[in-house]
Amino acid sequence: MSIEKAIKEIRKHTPEHVRLVCVSKFNPNEAIMKAYECGERIFGESKVQELCVKFDTLPKDISWHFIGHLQSNKIKDIIPFVELIHGVDSYKLLVEINKQAAKIGKTVNCLLQVHIAQEETKFGFSAEELMTAMAVGEWKELIHIRICGLMGMATYTEDREQIRMEFKKLKSLFDQVKIEFFSAENSFSELSMGMSDDYQIAIEEGSTLVRVGSSIFGHRQYNN
Ligand SMILES: *Cc1c(COP(=O)(O)O)cnc(C)c1O
Repeated sequence: MSIEKAIKEIRKHTPEHVRLVCVSKFNPNEAIMKAYECGERIFGESKVQELCVKFDTLPKDISWHFIGHLQSNKIKDIIPFVELIHGVDSYKLLVEINKQAAKIGKTVNCLLQVHIAQEETKFGFSAEELMTAMAVGEWKELIHIRICGLMGMATYTEDREQIRMEFKKLKSLFDQVKIEFFSAENSFSELSMGMSDDYQIAIEEGSTLVRVGSSIFGHRQYNN
């Protein structure tokens, strides 16, 4: 399927309050420009180096989201221009982003990544760790961070009901954090969940940001 057709198809199933992050990692600029010409402006990348090159060479009205595992020593390369960091998976990383953001006088939009899948390999806070970190409250002193919501990835499985349960859990955690810690603010409003195989379930369960890669761009070539 062409990129144009794929985007049309996805857009048909995506209500207006849900934003589409076109996950363009490992795809060349030409592919990104095809999606851009369809009107897409939000692109997601998972490698700092690749993101920086794409930022330099593609139109400046693209909103770049970082969706990968961010290493501390690379934060400074992306914070001048990154719109949203999806996968902040530790308090330590949040502190480090704050420190680098302070140096350039910027406030960086972040989502806290929660581990909802069964697999051990996925990064993120457990629900308990998240609630504890929020309750301790040191994050309130990180004035160069704006915590905009939560992000999670479901287990890689054929079991649709399990995926749905995991998204439900994340949504309920989101609601709990919002009520307990952000009731006075509108900034905590994003729930990033759903990828190519499960974004429709994620939308049904309350996602506001879906991260779709291979359904738009086809299978990724990891060997380039
Ligand atoms: C690669 C990636 C995606 C996109 O995955 P697809 O299955 O290709 O849609 C979404 N989220 C994260 C965090 C990713 O690393």
